[in-house]
Amino acid sequence: MTPSKRLKILFVTSELFPFMKTGGLADVSAALPQMLTELGHEVRILVPKYGAIDSRKYKIHEVVRLKDITVKIGNKDIVFSLRSSFLPSQRVRVQIYFLDNQEYFGSRKSLYTDPISGADYKDNDERFILLAKSVFQLVTLLGWIPDVIHSNDWQCGLIPAYHKNVFSTLAPFDSIKSIFTIHNLANSGSFPAATFSKTELPESLDNDKNSLLDGKFNFLKNGILYADYLTTVSEGYAEEIVTKKDVALDLYPCLSKKKKSLKGIINGIDTVVWNPQTDKFIPHKYSFETIAKKRDNKKILVERFGLHFDENTPTIGIISRLLSIKGMDLILDAFEELMNMNIQIVLLGAGEKKYQTAFEKLTKKHSDKFASYLGFNDDLAHLIEAGSDMLLMPSLFEPCGLNQMYSLAYGTIPIVRQTGGLGDTVFAFDEKTGEGNGFVFQKYDSAVMLKEVKKAVKLYSDQKLWLKIIKNGMKSDFSWKSSAKKYIELYKTVLSS
Ligand code: ADP
Repeated sequence: MTPSKRLKILFVTSELFPFMKTGGLADVSAALPQMLTELGHEVRILVPKYGAIDSRKYKIHEVVRLKDITVKIGNKDIVFSLRSSFLPSQRVRVQIYFLDNQEYFGSRKSLYTDPISGADYKDNDERFILLAKSVFQLVTLLGWIPDVIHSNDWQCGLIPAYHKNVFSTLAPFDSIKSIFTIHNLANSGSFPAATFSKTELPESLDNDKNSLLDGKFNFLKNGILYADYLTTVSEGYAEEIVTKKDVALDLYPCLSKKKKSLKGIINGIDTVVWNPQTDKFIPHKYSFETIAKKRDNKKILVERFGLHFDENTPTIGIISRLLSIKGMDLILDAFEELMNMNIQIVLLGAGEKKYQTAFEKLTKKHSDKFASYLGFNDDLAHLIEAGSDMLLMPSLFEPCGLNQMYSLAYGTIPIVRQTGGLGDTVFAFDEKTGEGNGFVFQKYDSAVMLKEVKKAVKLYSDQKLWLKIIKNGMKSDFSWKSSAKKYIELYKTVLSS
C-alpha cells in the first residue's frame, strides 16, 4: 500500500463518551477516532446501544440494510440491528453504528454490572460474543471494507479470534488486519470453559488449551493470542506487562511471547473537552496567564462540597473508580494521618461497595476536612480538576491514566505512584533544577505515599515554586495528535507486513 493512502478503520469499543462511560476507555474511544479523522482517515465506530443511551437526543436512526440480522449464540438465534448516528463533535463527522438488541443491551441501564447487586451480569459472555459477531455482519452487509479493525479490551477480545480463525481467509476479510488494544489487564473477561461452545469458533480451538486461562474461557487472552498486532496505552505499561509477572498476572506467559508484536502508545487527552480555558463545567475559565482564577474555582468547589474555603489550605482531589488497583487501600490506610494535616480532601468515585462504605463513614467522621460524592458525575470531575490544588492517584497499576494528564492541563499538581502511564507522564519536581511537574513515589506503601503528600503540602506554601510546578505541567502537550499519528504509522506497518 502507498504511504499516503487514506485508511479505513473500524473502531470497536464497549464504551463511548458522551453516550456511556465507566472510565478512560470511553474518552479514548471518542477522542482517538476524531483525531484520526482530522488527520484525513475514515473511521467508523461500533458500540452497543445500552438502555441509558437516548436515541432521540443523539439522533440515532435505523439503517434499512442493517435491520433484523440474525446470529447464533449457543443454541439461540439472536436478532439485532445496527443503528446509525455521529459523534457529537464540532470538528469532524465520525460515523457510529450502535448495536441494538433489547435483551442484551437495550434493557440494561449500566454497562457490565447489575446496578442493584453490583455483580457482573451473568450473560456478559453472550453479550460480548454478540458484539464480536456483529462486526463481521456489519462489514458484510454494509459492503464497507475497513483496512483495520481496531478492537479494545476484553469486551472485544473475540473479534481477533473470529477474524483469525474464521474470516481471515475469506474475502472481503482477507485484506483486513486486526489490532487489539489493552487498556487494562485487571478485567480480562473470564467465563466458564463452557462459554466456548456458545461462540461457534472452530472446534479445534476448544482443544487448544491456549485460549483457556486457569481452566476458564478468557476473552482478553483470545484478543492477545489472535490479533495481528497488540497495543497498550503507555510505553511504561507495555514494558511492564511483558517483564513483570506481578503486573501481567496470569496473562504473563501469553503476553511475554507477544513482546515483538506489542507497542505502547500513550493516550492523549481531548483538549476540547478538557481545557480550562473553555471548559463549560467550570465557572471561572483560566490559562496559566490567568491562573489566579483557579482560586475562584477552588472556592466554589470546596463550598459545593460543604467545606470551609481557605486559600492557604491545600485542597487535594481524588477522582477514581473505587477499586483496589486504583490504590484505594493506601488512601484508607493513611486516612487518619492525612486528616491530621492542614489539608482538605474531596473525593469523587464509584466502585466497590467496601470502599464506598468506608468513604461514607469517613465523610461523616471528618466532615470538616473530607467530603465525597459517591457516584458518577462528569460535571463534578471537571470542577474538581479545576478547583483542587493537587490530585492524588496512588494506583497499584495504571495502564495510562487520564486524570493525571487532565490535572497537569488544569494546573492541579498530581501526586502519583510510579506505575505504567503515570511514570510516563508525571515527573518528580526537582527544586534545584526547577524541572518536573508533580510528586512521584515508588513503593506501594501508605507511609511512602504519605511522605510524598507531606512533601507536596510543604512546597505548596512556597507559592513561587508552586507556580513553577504548575507552569511545567500546563505547558506539556498531551493532545492526541502525536499519539494518533503513531497509531496511523502502526496500522500502515501492520498492513504492509
Ligand atoms: P480508568 O480508565 O482506569 O478509570 P483513567 O484515569 O484513565 O482511569 O480515566 C478515568 C476517567 O473516568 C476520567 O475521565 C475521570 O474523570 C473519569 N471518572 C472516574 N470516576 C469518575 C466519577 N465517579 N465521576 C465522573 N468521572 C469519573
